[in-house]
Amino acid sequence: MGSGQVTDWQGRHVTVAGLGVSGIPAAKVLHARGAHVTVVNDGDDARAREQAAELQALGITVRLGDGATLPDGTELVVTTPGWKPDKPLFAAAREAGLEIWGDVELAWRLRGPDAAPWLAVTGTNGKTTTVQMLASILKAAGLRTAAVGNIGVSLLDVVLGEEQYDVLAVELSSYQLHWAPSLRAHSAAVLNLAPDHLDWHGSMEAYAADKGRIYEGNRVACVYNAADKATEDLVREADVEEGCRAIGFTLGTPGPSQLGVVDGILVDRAFVENRQRNAQELAEVADVNPPAPHNIANALAAAALARAFGVPAAAVRDGLRTFTPDAHRIAHVADVDGVAYVDDSKATNTHAAEASLAAYESIVWMAGGLAKGATFDELVAKSARRLRGVVLFGRDRALIREALARHAPEVPVVDLDRTDTGAMLAAVQEARRLATAGDTVLLAPACASMDMFANYNKRGDAFAEAVRELGS
Ligand code: ADP
Repeated sequence: MGSGQVTDWQGRHVTVAGLGVSGIPAAKVLHARGAHVTVVNDGDDARAREQAAELQALGITVRLGDGATLPDGTELVVTTPGWKPDKPLFAAAREAGLEIWGDVELAWRLRGPDAAPWLAVTGTNGKTTTVQMLASILKAAGLRTAAVGNIGVSLLDVVLGEEQYDVLAVELSSYQLHWAPSLRAHSAAVLNLAPDHLDWHGSMEAYAADKGRIYEGNRVACVYNAADKATEDLVREADVEEGCRAIGFTLGTPGPSQLGVVDGILVDRAFVENRQRNAQELAEVADVNPPAPHNIANALAAAALARAFGVPAAAVRDGLRTFTPDAHRIAHVADVDGVAYVDDSKATNTHAAEASLAAYESIVWMAGGLAKGATFDELVAKSARRLRGVVLFGRDRALIREALARHAPEVPVVDLDRTDTGAMLAAVQEARRLATAGDTVLLAPACASMDMFANYNKRGDAFAEAVRELGS
């Protein structure tokens, strides 16, 4: 099917793999354009049947209870991004020489000829925050834009919708990138790379390679993290357009073609005339909310993409000032008896928790949940000197306890053997006992929440509620 925009779908046989948030709209759009669509789905429960009935009423074929076999006559597979690449359906498609597109690839191929360029962001942590900062900066520059993609706004809806944009701030997950072979961004950033989702990708190399796809074909800038060599390596390996530049961001003094920090000021030494000698002041560290080190890195990455798009320095500052982070990302909940209570429930892996622990000097750390195969030695060893106490909860807490015994044996640990609904209040009360004035009680669990809560939002809400009970 080449790699360009596809306009003629009449009579093409397309298999959509998976019902659900991306499969259903994909099936509908392709059907509306004249394709013969068959949706295949592993599950065959009441919800799937309901969704199938809706699609069948439109004339779309749906096969429930068998997502493994490739329907005869398939010319293209469009998959839910979360489906693992080792599924037999994909092996059969590859054998038949077929292309496999995810939701992002489909949106990319269906966008109109005058579609807005994409400024794309990926990384293990910080994607959502960075994309929101970027959208805020672009808006401050008077551009029509939106934060879209993995952030929860379907790219398909955006590219097919009525609204006109000058540029899009696009968050992409490693799954989406895996299935987006022809995506070509204006500019893109990989914020950081730490092991995550390895069960899906198969190996760290495969995970990194999928993240690295975001740089393929970039036109203006490939933005990398100067403190994370793996991101720079991905830039080096990428095949980009002639003239596309590698732009680093650093929390230190920037070299030429970098953005960085000098005396509390975010500065640009990349998108200025005579970058050997000149630098442009963009904003103050205090303009970044919250001004934690990892978040300043996110702000620099967002600024680099915006500057690659030609945004003036003042808009970077204004956009950062007006940005407020989403809930449960280093959110200050309350001060009780001189102790700050901070909710970073979104720190669902060790890399994120490490960043948030690095943002405070004297911490009572609340952690635990589902470890997803992670190990905690590095995190605990790096953070040990900041810990005044630790409260552990959730199913895999023993893994963290053992790491603490190895690397921080003198730090008091409360191990809560509870997973009931009252457990969070008990955990917060224990944290209060361990904390003294000036400390921060930090919920940065380094684990997923689903052993005790529906999701990380609910975990953070339970924390905030418990803190409010302390204060009342
Ligand atoms: P993502 O969309 O990649 O999951 P978020 O912006 O939602 O990222 O942040 C997720 C978690 O990662 C938060 O808990 C935050 O503390 C942490 N985090 C954010 N930015 C970074 C970063 N640059 N490096 C490490 N951790 C980060």
